[in-house]
Amino acid sequence: MAMTTFPAGQSGPRLPELLAPAGNAEKLITAVHYGADAVYLGGKAFSLRARAANFDEDGLRWAVAYAHERGVKVYVTVNIFAHNRDLEHLEPYLLLLRHIGIDGCIVGDPGILATARRLVPELSLHLSTQANVTNTASARFWAEQGVRRLNLARELGLAEIRAIRAATPIELEVFVHGALCISYSGRCLLSQYLTGRNANQGDCAHPCRYAYAVVEEKRPGQYFPVEEDQHGTYIFNSRDLCLLDRLPLLIDAGVDAVKIEGRMKSAGYVGAVVRLYRLALDWIREQLFSGQSPVSLVLPEAFHKELSKIGTRGRTENFFAASPSSGDMLYDRMRFEQRFVPVGIIRAATPFLIETRHAIAVGDRVEYLGRTIEPETATVSAIRLEDGTPAQRANPGRRVLLQTEPPLATIEPHALLRKQIESA
Ligand code: SF4
Repeated sequence: MAMTTFPAGQSGPRLPELLAPAGNAEKLITAVHYGADAVYLGGKAFSLRARAANFDEDGLRWAVAYAHERGVKVYVTVNIFAHNRDLEHLEPYLLLLRHIGIDGCIVGDPGILATARRLVPELSLHLSTQANVTNTASARFWAEQGVRRLNLARELGLAEIRAIRAATPIELEVFVHGALCISYSGRCLLSQYLTGRNANQGDCAHPCRYAYAVVEEKRPGQYFPVEEDQHGTYIFNSRDLCLLDRLPLLIDAGVDAVKIEGRMKSAGYVGAVVRLYRLALDWIREQLFSGQSPVSLVLPEAFHKELSKIGTRGRTENFFAASPSSGDMLYDRMRFEQRFVPVGIIRAATPFLIETRHAIAVGDRVEYLGRTIEPETATVSAIRLEDGTPAQRANPGRRVLLQTEPPLATIEPHALLRKQIESA
């Protein structure tokens, strides 16, 4: 299954924009390589995800130029809930974003929104999911405030999304993949309370993933485990959102953009997820073009096989069809399960040069993530350092030349290589 090409002059049925996270330059390049229509990223200020590398002024200029040259849009997050002290540098920052030519600004705070409307009225405003739009009246309200797009609350089901779509022409964006807060879309003081790191300033330490115990107040130091089974229990630990199979229904509902969470995740993760959703959307488009109804579409098994190779805490469709239950939680572990790891990002095709992300050794079976859903597999037959010295293995963070057997049919710079670390 390859990416779809339509006959000249026929663009095919309209698909939602695929919106990908870009926590740094490498993740942006990877997301663009694998077919994101738009990326969202943060500057050094006013952006949730304080611990992502984010982009300084030069970085923002570069990001916009790089993306625009490839027909990709850039939305910049200005989505903290601001205190007065945060506002000091807001106006120059908004003017800078307009000057740089970003395609939209993601805001959540009404004060920041009002400032942007007054100061840079031509800048498109997207409402952050943290503003918690869950109903048609709220959607209309934000439309009247000049918001162009709503990133709907994650706590909505399909019927509610359809109702909001029917009630207002405002652009609708829906999260389809990534980590979930157990609290109401990040409105949570757990991290601030336990670690001093403020979730609503983008600095969450994710204490909802920790293992907890009970202490009786007159027995300090004696911890009574809270146990579901022999693994203990992680009482606030949600599975990850995955609406891959629901893409046809979201298209049928008239959603304008589907969004992937993960500015803090690795480039390997971002690339694999963007690639999966790009290929799924293109497959759906092909089916729609041939006259099929979106509601009857079922993604082929190859997509599920690929999904199973992407790291996760388990998967849930959250509120999509019904309210989540205990089955949507992950009580027995906090760990991100990962059977496959990215071993390298390709830097050049000739010679075949990769930058390693995990150790790689001669004899490793690797998968090349290309433009079709089935990865191309090969065995590493030789490794050389850049000066030509042969090596049996390379540690993470090295630039090495590879040979594989058989040679890979296609090698594109920015593509990913991965390998299995556990048996299926
Ligand atoms: S601690 Fe968990 S629930 Fe709270 S904001 Fe952080 S990720 Fe969300």
